[in-house]
Amino acid sequence: MHFVRVNNSKETVRIFDAHAHLQDLRFGSAAMDVIQRASAAGVSNISCCGTGENDWYIVAEIAKKHECITPSFGIHPWYVHERSEKWQKTLAGYLAEFPCSGVGEVGLDGRKNREHLAEQLECLDAQMEIAVSLNRPISLHCLGCWEPLVELLRKFSRRNLKFMVHSYSGSAELVKIICGLGGYLSFSASITHRNRKKAISALTAVPLDRLLIESDAPDLPPASTAPDTVNEPSFILETVKAASFYLDISFEELCKITFDNGQRFFKGES
Ligand SMILES: [Zn+2]
Repeated sequence: MHFVRVNNSKETVRIFDAHAHLQDLRFGSAAMDVIQRASAAGVSNISCCGTGENDWYIVAEIAKKHECITPSFGIHPWYVHERSEKWQKTLAGYLAEFPCSGVGEVGLDGRKNREHLAEQLECLDAQMEIAVSLNRPISLHCLGCWEPLVELLRKFSRRNLKFMVHSYSGSAELVKIICGLGGYLSFSASITHRNRKKAISALTAVPLDRLLIESDAPDLPPASTAPDTVNEPSFILETVKAASFYLDISFEELCKITFDNGQRFFKGES
């Protein structure tokens, strides 16, 4: 495995991984080792997002054991049709149990599970309502469905919805609209791969105080890893390094900026 090292740096870096799924079954009982490797690499905070009623309890268990985890609970657009009748009650229970938790991963996907797009919209609207009413940050997934997303964001931003779009894949023009509505944008290892002109032009359009970096582990491993690698938060250094190159700021400075942004977004701390 290839790691990016911070050469000649005596500074200790702290990295905020703004989006991961440590509850994923691909980690299983290795989640604790994965968190330890992350911590050794300087990743001191990880936002761990649930995807549905079936995995919220694992997110909760991980968050109870590890202080570095900021949990979020939500129904992912791929699983909206699997939700039970009591999903809102169960969600409210987890959000109450973890006062610092967010709502996520939620959103819209116009490519996968498109046949349930109406349910995706209904479920996202309900989860934005919950996030606004409890003043919790919301972590959004959006693929090929930007217009209806922006419409919902316009509706809820009037009520101060705190939101971030994870693994941003939209255009640089849309960056302005999203930031204008108060949003944060998070970038994954897709910027470490070749031919990512669109992602890089979006990255360089984001105001630095709205920028987040994420692993999206166990998905989206960085370019230097072997095919089919299970991604983990410690690999995020490669993404930070690539982003610092494109943004023309130092690795250490970008770590600090994105760490502070993560603290502000997820924990209300500046
Ligand atoms: Zn995700």
